[in-house]
Amino acid sequence: MTYAPQLLWVLAAVFLAEMTRDFYHFLSHQWTPLQRLHNWHHRAYRKDFSPVSTEVYRQAQLYNDAPEAIFMMAVMALAAGTTQILGLWVGVIYSAGFLGSALLRSRGLLASSDITHEPGVPLSGIPSYWLVNRTYHWRHHFDDTNAYYAGLFPMSDKLLGTALSLKGKTVAVTGASGTMGRALIKALAKAGAKPVALTTSSRKSAGREAASREIAGAVKTMTWQVGQEQSLQAALRKVDILIINHGVNVMGARSPQAIEQSLEVNALSGWRLMEAFLETVDDRTGRATKEVWVNTSEAEVSPAFSPLYEVSKRLMGDLINVRRTDAPCIVRKIVLGPFKSELNPYGVMGADFIARCVLFLARRDIRNIIVTINPLTCLMFPIKEVVQAVYFRLFLKGRFPKEHLSKEQDVQRKRKHS
Ligand SMILES: [Zn+2]
Ligand SMILES: [Zn+2]
Repeated sequence: MTYAPQLLWVLAAVFLAEMTRDFYHFLSHQWTPLQRLHNWHHRAYRKDFSPVSTEVYRQAQLYNDAPEAIFMMAVMALAAGTTQILGLWVGVIYSAGFLGSALLRSRGLLASSDITHEPGVPLSGIPSYWLVNRTYHWRHHFDDTNAYYAGLFPMSDKLLGTALSLKGKTVAVTGASGTMGRALIKALAKAGAKPVALTTSSRKSAGREAASREIAGAVKTMTWQVGQEQSLQAALRKVDILIINHGVNVMGARSPQAIEQSLEVNALSGWRLMEAFLETVDDRTGRATKEVWVNTSEAEVSPAFSPLYEVSKRLMGDLINVRRTDAPCIVRKIVLGPFKSELNPYGVMGADFIARCVLFLARRDIRNIIVTINPLTCLMFPIKEVVQAVYFRLFLKGRFPKEHLSKEQDVQRKRKHS
């Protein structure tokens, strides 16, 4: 017997044990007898994960964590026994460790909590992509208890489509009166979100009520102007997810005005709006629940037969990657292929279909949502993202040098008051 395959089985055993935990957890939210036991876990914590009381915390360890670990042990023992694979027994030992710590905590003999329930500290990071962290799991307790079931590997949530809950979330969409905006708002409303339409459309002159009736599914319509992004900041405080989706396509134009308009609408306005939104993210709940999605389009890497559209969308895409190196919440990109709209006469896919795909992938926590028929985008885009992420992380410094700080603050202050 060689050791290498057994080592792989050891890793597989940990993965399978965790998947078993997630299955038990999912079942605990569906099946009443288990639900009664699992409720102890949900009742045990305040919003900063400090225990509601020592008594309830200990009961939760006994009635939820311990049986969960026993279930994991039983399933792993069954798997190891029936397949006769030695490495899988590690899954039993791994699960037994959780049983041991649950029993010790239930008797007050182990003071420390597990990492995802660390008590009394603010939400420090954004929900992690590869492994479940505290902010990720916080959402299961306090955002939507019918989502975010994963304990260590987010794989189970990706399979179930529960890696992001849209239920009851206020989602503001710019470019709301355009083809994609309307399709997104319709799909969001269907998914249980509360879409807010942000539009610069002149149709606003028909009155706010008329405008909201025009955009099917929107709970509210607000008008704004490019260049006045800060005026939306008060409204953005109440927004959970901001989808920056407005854009302009000057097609073959190349005049200075066309350049300015493309940069201003497709890149700078989106960037300013993103910054205004990011300022509203706090470390009490915002890091966990707030998100920005930006529709940069596949023009970021592929031809859109409109050079200035490509230039401006690429700039926006690059600015997002700069911001992603230290953004206080999740920033997703929506990278769409050609769809039929007023902006794009070359479109081939339907906007409603694309909007449904976007939400399908977002619910699986895909951070770069690519929906296209162009295989080159699927190949080029991830390469560009990885290379640029590494490059930006290497060469972007966290803070301004001290001597520049006061000058920069001065500029910001002037901008705010102008
Ligand atoms: Zn928990
Ligand atoms: Zn639960």
